[in-house]
Amino acid sequence: MARHGVPMVASSGYVAEMDEEVCEACAACEEICPFEAIHVKEAAVVNWETCMGCGVCVERCPGEAMTLVRDEGKGIPLDVRLLAEEQAAS
Ligand code: SF4
Ligand code: SF4
Repeated sequence: MARHGVPMVASSGYVAEMDEEVCEACAACEEICPFEAIHVKEAAVVNWETCMGCGVCVERCPGEAMTLVRDEGKGIPLDVRLLAEEQAAS
């Protein structure tokens, strides 16, 4: 999702990782990914460049083949609870 070439959505700091042992190539994840980051042939392949770590595919996968893993290159995840604790302490 970009406007005038500028990304409008920030990464969660995670990316989706597929387990080849579990994936049944049903393509449900490909259909639902809002960033078109998944392509399915013999199994799902996630493009980590375009994956925003939203987790939609994780919820949609019927076989629990998708999980979110940290990608250090995508920045530090926003921890709202930690921010609230810091604000309460100050
Ligand atoms: S985590 Fe979100 S952006 Fe990444 S592959 Fe899954 S649905 Fe697409
Ligand atoms: S939804 Fe799950 S089982 Fe289906 S293609 Fe995607 S990763 Fe594989």
